[in-house]
Amino acid sequence: MGPVIVWFRRDLRLNDHPALAEAARSGRPVLPVFIRDKSVVGLGAAPAWRLEKGLESLSRSLAGIGSRLILRNGDADDCLDDLILETGADAVFWTRLYDPASKQRDRAIKASLKSRGVDARSFSGHLLTEPVRLRTKEGGPFRVYSPFWRAMVREGIQVDLMPAPKDMRPPERWPASEKLEAWNLGQGMRRGAAVLSRHVVAGEEAALERLDQFAEGKIDGYKSNRDLVSEAGTSGLSPFLSLGEVSPVRCWARAMHASESGSPGAGTFMKELAWREFAHHLMHHFPDLGHRNWRDGWESFPWNLEENRPDVLAWKQGRTGYALIDAAMRELQVTGTMHNRARMVAASFLTKHLMTDWRVGLRWFEQHLVDWDTASNAMGWQWVAGCGPDAAPFFRIFNPETQAKKFDPDGRYARRWIAEGQADPPSTAMDFFEAIPARWQLSLDMAPAAPIVELADGRSRALAAYSRLTGKSQDLPNVG
Ligand SMILES: Cc1cc2nc3c(=O)[nH]c(=O)nc-3n(C[C@H](O)[C@H](O)[C@H](O)COP(=O)(O)OP(=O)(O)OC[C@H]3O[C@@H](n4cnc5c(N)ncnc54)[C@H](O)[C@@H]3O)c2cc1C
Repeated sequence: MGPVIVWFRRDLRLNDHPALAEAARSGRPVLPVFIRDKSVVGLGAAPAWRLEKGLESLSRSLAGIGSRLILRNGDADDCLDDLILETGADAVFWTRLYDPASKQRDRAIKASLKSRGVDARSFSGHLLTEPVRLRTKEGGPFRVYSPFWRAMVREGIQVDLMPAPKDMRPPERWPASEKLEAWNLGQGMRRGAAVLSRHVVAGEEAALERLDQFAEGKIDGYKSNRDLVSEAGTSGLSPFLSLGEVSPVRCWARAMHASESGSPGAGTFMKELAWREFAHHLMHHFPDLGHRNWRDGWESFPWNLEENRPDVLAWKQGRTGYALIDAAMRELQVTGTMHNRARMVAASFLTKHLMTDWRVGLRWFEQHLVDWDTASNAMGWQWVAGCGPDAAPFFRIFNPETQAKKFDPDGRYARRWIAEGQADPPSTAMDFFEAIPARWQLSLDMAPAAPIVELADGRSRALAAYSRLTGKSQDLPNVG
């Protein structure tokens, strides 16, 4: 029996890894591989930079059990074929992904390998359950979150935690590997990389530590604190989940345990994990989720499509004159993440007050989020814009000032990220000037930004366009 290739993609961990566990259990030599194919080359600047950190960490973990991460560059099918030829491997295992490009690639590779007698097998591990497992009564996919959640609970999640293999049989001779440094995955970040490094931790060990800390403490207050933008009231697990440095099943299991011990926030946290699941369910069943308006009729909505119109540029640069939005957009530049509440308000402002196509915002996040996840990003943008599945109704136009009063009542979040106007700004706010492109020519001596749009004007413009689209009256409730 030849070696088994374990092809890592968005599952950069050793624990709870069914494909790796199966390979290790086989007793055959195991060849862990990561391939820089076009799905990697096409990553945005921050996700690619973050991936490099994840791969460094995975290499170290594998070395710790006497193994190695082999790096190859090129089309995945060619790279796998080369490795099979070089090593005599006769099995390739991987963890399933659900976005259209990955599914298409994986299907073709599986068919081709199988036709040549290679044992090509995909395993679960990226989600809590398979997107095909949950079906409506009529047998179709879910389009609304609440019944999806109820079905998930009804069907139950199989919690099968797997320890990392203690050792794995190495091949007789390791095949050649490229050098991670030579890929320079972080190059798109340019000067922002040094700033991000101060805020980002990566790897399975860090992920498990983060989960422990959260499940043993903050989870209790999660329900009441999760919307407060200046609090670290959420888990901060999204970058780890995005690259699979921790399994969703482990997060779920910890939350279950906390819930059984009476934690008041655990149930809410589980519902959030289910939003991630719902996003992948949608993307699996509606592969255009990231490209096309999900609801019919929205193609004729008069979105602004200009990426660099001055008001859109002000949004990107955190200079809209609305503190909650500007703080959020700067948090993104400095840390590669943004609080969920702030994501919703910033996305609402772009798509509604500035009437800008949600795909402009989606692409900006795709470049800047270290937790970028194709399904959650697409669902988030379409949800906020009002054209997506189970979307917030279009007339729900968040008012950034009201939202700031509710969720940043003492202005701590704004002060943490916006330096202008402060006599002694904190280092987090100063970091922004170091992270952003020099060509933006923004500096501390600038006057604080003045509002780029009157909120009432932006709101009525958006509602008028919406009522033209739907034929409904503009006289809609103000729920912002
Ligand atoms: C416009 C927009 C874009 C977004 N883009 C992304 C993205 O690219 N990647 C991403 O992981 N999340 C995205 N989200 C969802 C959400 O903002 C983040 O998952 C959350 O802020 C991560 O912080 P946390 O890990 O502390 O979350 P917690 O509150 O601790 O939640 C735990 C986990 O549940 C999942 N989760 C929570 N809320 C959501 C949600 N609304 N949708 C999907 N999953 C959720 C995440 O995996 C998260 O790590 C987006 C939301 C919006 C409104």
